[in-house]
Amino acid sequence: MDAQRTLRRQISCVGIGLHSGNKVNLSLKPAPPDFGIRFRRTDLGDHEVPATVHNLAGIQLATGLSRNEVSVETVEHLLAALTSVGVDNVLVELNSPEVPIMDGSAAPFIYLIQEAGVKRLAAPRKYLKIVRPIAISRGDKRIALYPSDHFKVTYSISFDHPLLRHQSRTIRITEESFVEDVAPARTFTFLKDVEMMRQNGLALGGSLENAIVLGETGILNNALRFEDEFVRHKILDAIGDLALVGYPVIGHLVAHRAGHALHTEFAAKVLEETQAWRLVEAAGESMMPLPVVVKDAAVAPRLAN
Ligand SMILES: [Zn+2]
Repeated sequence: MDAQRTLRRQISCVGIGLHSGNKVNLSLKPAPPDFGIRFRRTDLGDHEVPATVHNLAGIQLATGLSRNEVSVETVEHLLAALTSVGVDNVLVELNSPEVPIMDGSAAPFIYLIQEAGVKRLAAPRKYLKIVRPIAISRGDKRIALYPSDHFKVTYSISFDHPLLRHQSRTIRITEESFVEDVAPARTFTFLKDVEMMRQNGLALGGSLENAIVLGETGILNNALRFEDEFVRHKILDAIGDLALVGYPVIGHLVAHRAGHALHTEFAAKVLEETQAWRLVEAAGESMMPLPVVVKDAAVAPRLAN
């Protein structure tokens, strides 16, 4: 049996919201079994917003949740980090509508989780095991889940840009592969879109510190973290959005040119397709303890008390 997990202790950091540009305090707090991942806006009282497809809100450039008129935005990178290293239960407190963008990747959240430590709880973890394919497509955008013994993700993207015309990658997601191969991949945007977003009051906190910015022929940042950082970031986004099914998935996620809108529509469909999966208690192989990864000080967030 795999046990559910939570954090060993509370941990907090400060960052900025990508769209508002405002400073945000983020705290991750240990939670009991079957609590799941819930957000609480400390600026709006005690209302909690569980991270499930039932609370999906406006999905545009990022994934948002809302319940009882309490909303949280840009949840996907944090959700990907928590679920990929097996943190099933945690209370996420924010004093602002947006999860801080950090460096545009999930690496700073991994740092926080490792700094807090992870502990097992006395309750079995349930996995959502895919037994029949589930798929949706919209034009040339597609996303599907197929039966597999492991959770793995295949993603392909194509853009009309010399640096990322076509990129495709398959990664079997383990705690270790997520930390090393997926979490550091940063979000990306096109310079031509930045001005438009700013005019619409979006991306006010955006900078070369928290996104790869693509000019007409290359990137404005110093360097990429991976040659195919773009498609790796799409894998990160898809993992975070799929986390809204509320269980770790055992299956092969395959996506082509999708985005948050399609990822989240798909996550909702997965829960509806009850004939296509079973809830099981073991992954088929026991989960290893958290890998000993040397924390990358370069991505360390500013810790708070
Ligand atoms: Zn993203």
